[in-house]
Amino acid sequence: MNVFKEIDVLIIGAGPSGTIASAYLKNNGFNVLIVEKKKFPRFVIGESLLPRTIDHLEEVGFLEAVKNAGFQEKLGATFFDKGKKCEFLFAEQFTKGYEYAFQVPRDEFDKVLSDAAEKKGIEILFEYTVENVDFQDGFQNTTISNNNEKLIVKSKFIIDASGYGRVLPKQLDLNVPSSLKARSAIFTQLKNNFKGITQKQNNIFIDTLDDDTKAWMWIIPFSDNRTSVGFVGDDKWIQSFQENPKNKFSEALGKNAIFNDIFQEIEFEFEPTIIRGYSVGVKQVFGDGYVMVGNSTEFLDPVFSSGVMLATETGLLAAKLAVKELKDTVVDWQTEYADIVAGGVDVFRSYVDAWYDGTLHTIFFTNEIRKDMKEQICSVLAGYVFDQKNPFVKKHRRALKNLAKVIKMK
Ligand code: FAD
Repeated sequence: MNVFKEIDVLIIGAGPSGTIASAYLKNNGFNVLIVEKKKFPRFVIGESLLPRTIDHLEEVGFLEAVKNAGFQEKLGATFFDKGKKCEFLFAEQFTKGYEYAFQVPRDEFDKVLSDAAEKKGIEILFEYTVENVDFQDGFQNTTISNNNEKLIVKSKFIIDASGYGRVLPKQLDLNVPSSLKARSAIFTQLKNNFKGITQKQNNIFIDTLDDDTKAWMWIIPFSDNRTSVGFVGDDKWIQSFQENPKNKFSEALGKNAIFNDIFQEIEFEFEPTIIRGYSVGVKQVFGDGYVMVGNSTEFLDPVFSSGVMLATETGLLAAKLAVKELKDTVVDWQTEYADIVAGGVDVFRSYVDAWYDGTLHTIFFTNEIRKDMKEQICSVLAGYVFDQKNPFVKKHRRALKNLAKVIKMK
């Protein structure tokens, strides 16, 4: 097969990690091609963003386009547990970062980013699937296909931003089970028919549903008359929705006080969808001529909305290092990429573990928490997980355990 195109960097996938990476490379004069298997707009889950992602959007020149799209501004997150409430507002945080993010239908958000990438002159081949990467000495020949043809793309470097597709982890046999217990989710979008303004729309709501499993539910209002709603819990419970998803979903919503406080009735935008065992890990995140970013690396859990933030963080960092390497500067991918990414993921891992073992419920639902500590925790929830000046980042696991212990002693 002849080579169809020769480029500097091939990016697999046009989700947030891929488009952010493409923009940085293009801004620095490199020739990039994104290959995306779907036609956009396409549905993907992951609708609550974090302020840290606003830094990334701004750095590559995407922020104006996102602001102009009219998405729902997000100013914080409110957690509930049997009538108790704990609100984190991004304006009240330790790290001096952005004080807002957005709540976005991802089909539209990802389309805004891919349009902004194309506007910069980046080529995106939609409805082409990456099938196989043939790694050669100093270059890669990648086979891509659509319904009619197979083509070869020759590149100097590959960024795997394929998300749930996990192209290189599958091809190179790098997938490993997650360190977290397997959990599943069921979600849909509802038509907004709020009971007047009982809750703020510029906030997401997380309600704890079960004392033992810490199963939970999300409510993410959009600006366009839709709200995303989902349940997360052990696989057996989520599988029990399978037989009649709409009925079971309505039944579960009917029992929920927070939901009933906000909505008059339930009108589905689409049949509730299940994702089983969503957590996944990976043996290594880079190798000769490639790097993995976003969800093709490790995905933990949706409870703190960290997925898109880690996608844009890793997409941008990987692109910066690829630029260095393409300019013939030696990059130590272990220390400059893998260790840094693992550091950020580990902070979230501590918070996810602390959610499911109840440590965070002790912290969130007490009246005793000091304002400065709450602000430090808020910065983690805003995605500022690389700020080593924050004690709840630097000593994340120990800081949470110690604080919960002190609260319990009072
Ligand atoms: P994606 O957004 O998945 O994009 C990858 C792209 O690659 C896709 O468009 C896909 O079509 C394409 N692709 C795949 N395979 C191929 C191939 N072979 N060839 C070409 N293209 C390919 N995150 C949040 O930030 N906030 C949330 O509220 C949130 N909620 C979540 C709820 C649940 C239940 C789950 C499971 C996850 C949630 N996430 C959330 C995580 C979020 O979905 C992901 O972290 C995020 O979408 C990752 O972005 P990405 O760019 O890495 O991949």
